[in-house]
Amino acid sequence: MEPGEGAVEFMREITEGMTLEEVRELYRHMMRIPPDDAKVKRCATCNYYFRDKTRPGNAKVCGPSCKTVRKTEQKADQRARKPVEPKKPKKERRYDEAAWLAGIWRHEVPFDPGKLPYIQAARERYSRMGGRKKPIRKVDY
Ligand SMILES: [Zn+2]
Repeated sequence: MEPGEGAVEFMREITEGMTLEEVRELYRHMMRIPPDDAKVKRCATCNYYFRDKTRPGNAKVCGPSCKTVRKTEQKADQRARKPVEPKKPKKERRYDEAAWLAGIWRHEVPFDPGKLPYIQAARERYSRMGGRKKPIRKVDY
């Protein structure tokens, strides 16, 4: 697992100006004896050290990418633990056509005769220009 953003930032912070050998030595030391700073923790996802910058100090992961991984795992876990509900039986379909049509016609409102020319114009416009009110301007260069 790659170190997350917070872990990288933390290591960059504490190893600034050190040689590679010194950094190796420090890392080995940190693996043996964890730092006694309460705000320095190990990330729950990538397992690297990071500095907890939250005010209450309850961060579990070092950065947003680690958080995403952790949340994905948590969700998968929840989904696996949730009991599978039996599927609901489908509603019986209605095959009574007369009743179906009667149901539709009850809601159908006839067009307002005063609006018929506008409706006709809109249909024509749609068939000609695909519903645009303004025509596409083509500029010849
Ligand atoms: Zn991390």
